[in-house]
Amino acid sequence: MAAIPVISVGDILEMKKPHPCGEKRFKVLRIGSDIKLSCVGCARTLVIERVKVEKMIKKIFPCEA
Ligand SMILES: [Zn+2]
Repeated sequence: MAAIPVISVGDILEMKKPHPCGEKRFKVLRIGSDIKLSCVGCARTLVIERVKVEKMIKKIFPCEA
């Protein structure tokens, strides 16, 4: 992605690299200078620096519902 991706709480992010459990999709729980994510596959939570998350994103599925 050329532009900085717009991330919102509730969005599902598809990452370039999968979680150790094999799942590539993560749900956004909290956004600050770090972003808290929960793995869609195993429900484990992780906190990653925002700049790193932005580089890891392959695709964003916005939260509509
Ligand atoms: Zn996982």
